[in-house]
Amino acid sequence: MNSWSEVYLPPIDHKFLFPPLSLHDSATRSAVALPIKSDYTMYVCGITPYDATHLGHAATYLTFDLVNRYLTAMGKKVHFVENITDVDDPLLERANRDGIDWKDLAHSQIDLFRGDMSDLHVIPPENYIGAVEAIPLIIEAIEELQEADTVYSVDGDLYFQVNADEKFGTRSHLSKEEMLTIFAQRGGDPMRSGKKDPLDALVWLSHRPGEPSWPSPFGAGRPGWHIECCAIAMAYLPLDTHSDYMIDIQGGGSDLLFPHHEMGAAQSRILGKKDYARIYMYAGMIGLDGEKMSKSKGNLVFVSTLINQGSDPMAIRMALLQQEYSQDRMWSNEQLLEATVFINEIRLLLSRPEVAPTDWLIQEIIDSLSNNLDTPRAFRALRKWCETCATISETDPIGSAGELSRVLDLLLGIAL
Ligand code: ZN
Repeated sequence: MNSWSEVYLPPIDHKFLFPPLSLHDSATRSAVALPIKSDYTMYVCGITPYDATHLGHAATYLTFDLVNRYLTAMGKKVHFVENITDVDDPLLERANRDGIDWKDLAHSQIDLFRGDMSDLHVIPPENYIGAVEAIPLIIEAIEELQEADTVYSVDGDLYFQVNADEKFGTRSHLSKEEMLTIFAQRGGDPMRSGKKDPLDALVWLSHRPGEPSWPSPFGAGRPGWHIECCAIAMAYLPLDTHSDYMIDIQGGGSDLLFPHHEMGAAQSRILGKKDYARIYMYAGMIGLDGEKMSKSKGNLVFVSTLINQGSDPMAIRMALLQQEYSQDRMWSNEQLLEATVFINEIRLLLSRPEVAPTDWLIQEIIDSLSNNLDTPRAFRALRKWCETCATISETDPIGSAGELSRVLDLLLGIAL
């Protein structure tokens, strides 16, 4: 699957110091500093393309874009893989409801998503992989799970036994009762009779009339969602053979921690025979008018709608990054307006021949980001610098507008 256009990353002066990047890990419920090495691996779960990119999606991809940018600015190679679930129940249901071909619906929404990511200046993944193109890999992964004796059939549908992984549940820290409730809310089938454990995860759904299917050694059908990501990550990321973990970062929106990432981690542990991700990291949900933004509530705000209405994509980016990434937070037009005013103020200051000193500000932005992507602190420093610029006199020391502009672009993705 083609990803979107490359993003230009300006260079940064070597005089600035980059502390190790420390990120909150849900599994250990603590900040974990990435070890210093030359390459990092990051897998971020992509969208199911049945609707355009809303602000919740955007906030998630912007968060992991900051991780990518920080590590790249350190001079490291980031292997970043993202999937797109281009065959799944919600996509088929929407296509059926609207009387369109599911493939046409997926293609049109994938195109929109690519355009939104490009507009928001998100660095594209090294590999952007669709579920459909990954079916041979997914079949192989299921066969390996079968060889490990962790898969069984319920009327031709294949399930992975979650208890095969002794660490099942250790990434999300939920009680069995909570797991059952959330599993049912997020596409699981705990009530299906014939399952050994109500939480066992579907890996292959046998062919249903009127639905697409692909041939496999287990009969025609289509893959489950959790095994899709697990198979794609393990095939496309260079797995770390020198550490206790296969990859560095597994990321997504906070609604993916359970069941999606818990199931994926369990399956990966059986396949790779060691722990999957060093860090399980989550972006908070975006709400509107005091409520969670969701399809069922019909209160989604789409990135493409805002841009078509004339909003500056960089202002959308800044508005979404102003608050702490991991917190659930509300979106409002006032935030977008404020971000637009702020960006214009910075543009104006950077066009001046003389600006207030910038070295301390650049180092403060780097330090803030290194501390679990503390963007509120970075933006506070930027505001303080703007205020200083307003009072600068001819005899005061000056900074480099060009250097600051490059840093805002490189580290925060805000191209002015
Ligand atoms: Zn995923």
